[in-house]
Amino acid sequence: MSKPIRVRFAPSPTGPLHIGGVRTALFNYLFAKKNNGTFFLRIEDTDQNRFVPGAEEYILEALNWLGIAPDETVGKNEKFGPYRQSERKELYQHYADQLINSGNAYYAFDTAEALDAHRKQHEEQGKTFIYNHHNREKLDTSLVLSEEATEKRIAAGEDYVIRFKTPVNETLHLKDIIRGDVKFETNLLDDKVLFKSDGMPTYHLANIVDDHLMETSHVIRGEEWLPSMPLHVLLYRAFGWDAPEFAHLPLILKPIGNGKLSKRDGDKMGFPVFPLEWTTEEGVSSGYREKGFFPEAVVNFLALLGWNDGTEKELFSLEELVQNFDLNRVHKAGAKFDPEKNKWFNHQY
Ligand code: GLU
Repeated sequence: MSKPIRVRFAPSPTGPLHIGGVRTALFNYLFAKKNNGTFFLRIEDTDQNRFVPGAEEYILEALNWLGIAPDETVGKNEKFGPYRQSERKELYQHYADQLINSGNAYYAFDTAEALDAHRKQHEEQGKTFIYNHHNREKLDTSLVLSEEATEKRIAAGEDYVIRFKTPVNETLHLKDIIRGDVKFETNLLDDKVLFKSDGMPTYHLANIVDDHLMETSHVIRGEEWLPSMPLHVLLYRAFGWDAPEFAHLPLILKPIGNGKLSKRDGDKMGFPVFPLEWTTEEGVSSGYREKGFFPEAVVNFLALLGWNDGTEKELFSLEELVQNFDLNRVHKAGAKFDPEKNKWFNHQY
């Protein structure tokens, strides 16, 4: 019997949800409903510096307004919870220790300043600083510390982080449902921090521990996370867990210039980048709801920015989207708005 379909939307509460995030949530919802699966919401709030009060409530309210409420989330169904990562700290500590004990992670003592200095020095020589065991002989960092030296420094109360020990000399051949076959060389990956000196896990560790424990079958997320896929696959392997399937969605791009859509771009395009109004000290940014858009129209519009059913049909109810949704028909190109022609086009990058 194949695994039940469980997909998640996992935003960090660092501000209001913008339409790129809404579309990620929507595609997860459509995929879950199409396949009789479960759609859950996990709040990834382990980065305390970027936490914005009210953002979590906003996310849930926006999903409810759009009609794509999660089946499970904080306070709704605690079977796989808690769904707020800040309430799962002990778990991550346990799994970080497990990686240390199995030799897949190590303590590192380099300060941010020391690492910056290394980076700069390399840049001056036209080289990229890659902090991993493939390069260890060339690096003058704590990465080359012996076990004894490590123990001494911990005993002396020095701050440390836990880093993943990236395997050397491997080519990873991975599969993404949207992008197809993707290849990564492990020697080009940094040994990423998994656990920070403030006692909090990084996104990478918390994300994969939770996707395992919450039985995520498919990770459907924005393409900005594609470069993290090799690390995540290596982490699953280091724990001895099966990795979920991955589908990285193309981005909704800025109308002018490069990068991700920001709230100021909404003015250039003549429509909001937020589903609901968001108020900060700088003022109020209006959302679709306050501007009188119907949620069904917003959902229809966002779905067609990254997907089509293979016909010319342009108006879909949420039910029709569910019936017709197929990850294999998600575009590979990003969606970009042309302010002069006043229309969207598929931007190849
Ligand atoms: N917390 C990440 C974000 O804010 C989630 C990425 C993922 O879905 O793995 O986008």
